[in-house]
Amino acid sequence: MMGIKIGIIGAGSAVFSMRLVADICKTPKLNGSTIVLMDIDEERLNAVHLLASKIVEEFGSDIKFIKTTNLEETIKDSDFVINTAMVGGHEYLEKARAIGEKYGYYRGIDTQEFNMVSDYYTISNFNQLNFAFNVAKLIEKLSPNAWLIQGANPVFEITTLISREIPIKMIGVCHGHYGVMEIIEKLGLDYNLVDWQVAGFNHAICLNKFEYNGEDAYPLLDKWIDENKEFKPRDPFNDQLSPAAIDMYKFYKMFPIGDTVRNSSWKYHYNLEEKKKWYGYPWGGADSEIGWKWYQNMLSEVTNIIKGFAKLVYENKDKKLSELFENALTGNNLEGHFEEEIRKILDPNQLSGEQHIPFINAIVNDEKAKLVLNIMNTNIINELPGDVAVEVPVLVDKNGIHPEEIYPKLNKRIVRYYLYPRMIRMDMALEAFLTGDVKLLEEFLIRDRRTTSYSQVKNVLEELMNLPENQEMKKHYMK
Ligand code: NAD
Repeated sequence: MMGIKIGIIGAGSAVFSMRLVADICKTPKLNGSTIVLMDIDEERLNAVHLLASKIVEEFGSDIKFIKTTNLEETIKDSDFVINTAMVGGHEYLEKARAIGEKYGYYRGIDTQEFNMVSDYYTISNFNQLNFAFNVAKLIEKLSPNAWLIQGANPVFEITTLISREIPIKMIGVCHGHYGVMEIIEKLGLDYNLVDWQVAGFNHAICLNKFEYNGEDAYPLLDKWIDENKEFKPRDPFNDQLSPAAIDMYKFYKMFPIGDTVRNSSWKYHYNLEEKKKWYGYPWGGADSEIGWKWYQNMLSEVTNIIKGFAKLVYENKDKKLSELFENALTGNNLEGHFEEEIRKILDPNQLSGEQHIPFINAIVNDEKAKLVLNIMNTNIINELPGDVAVEVPVLVDKNGIHPEEIYPKLNKRIVRYYLYPRMIRMDMALEAFLTGDVKLLEEFLIRDRRTTSYSQVKNVLEELMNLPENQEMKKHYMK
């Protein structure tokens, strides 16, 4: 077939881009495609371009690259646009978090019950929402038939916002549902005999169906819980079977999956000691001050390793990537996590697990894929309104996305006491973004358990909007 054009916005996120490029190389029917790598950080972009080209050479694939800092060029004539950009980067997140903490909001004002993920900003991220909104408007204008694949957070808010406001085709993607695999593995089950479903919102999904060999598998999980009281996480993100997850399960009666475990109530997040108790020592989970620092250190380590590796590749243009990788390993330049990542990328039989390329392949080549996607709730979870994006299992083929029937249904506790409060905060954030009514941001914070006075709310918002990078946000809300 004719090659397609895929634009990746925020392509400087190196590991992510390398995973996608390798997945395309391992999907023969996508041979002949053109990938536009777009980022505003030219140094990162150059490194990714070099490594991506080497991956293509390694697999002998026919993939062309365009490298650009221009958004229009990325979107024009694209069939698929992947948005993974984080405007302001981690630096902005930490600046905004520090302002929140100064005014008594532990872990920042965006950290809320049922939304504790530390790079998932819903109200102080005006620039991020605005950027994604503009990307969607540009798609409507320049490539109205293209699909937008939204990977940058906040996926729930952005997927709902764009699907409501802009008539383009879009999905939100996240890999949180792979938490199910950890449960299957821990219980020692054969994956091929497990039938499962998850449903809810992004970062707010539960295991509504869990069967083994055609029978309810929840009793096996209950037994495992009874027999395994010790919890020792291998890293801050290893929380799928943490005491917090089990405690949520006991309350909601269905097991929380993936980032949902992080997105719990304040019960587990009041302070660092509570976090440690519920998410394990020594970190207290990914979203404690210690766990998040661990993540940031890992990210900057990976960024440095990638820079070093790109330099090595540049200086040895005649050598294959696999050869250079083995040399770098002997020279001890690469470390654990990154080594595992590169081995997977170079393994022709393993896909990354990211859903982007299987989705594209299913749409373009009719190679059916079972995925878990964020899409508008058109008669999928009947207990929830239709104008919100839900994260649900679907089958994708050339005719589009076919959601599975969600059965057993989500129960009342999950729908009313977990998803509804989360949805209302999403709605408030989106209405604030669309109308510029600062009273909505204020109301969001007035309802926050950490707020003790109206002046606290006014002051934190004022200081946030006075940041130089928030001029547009200030203009929007303070008109
Ligand atoms: P990062 O800051 O390391 O990388 C993001 C990239 O976006 C950078 O290369 C940056 O230069 C680029 N960028 C910033 N502003 C841009 C702009 N205006 N135009 C184009 N590019 C721009 O961040 P990260 O840790 O890789 O996270 C990226 C996003 O992905 C975040 O929103 C994060 O929450 C999200 N994320 C999603 C998933 C998922 O499964 N959906 C998983 C992990 C992270």
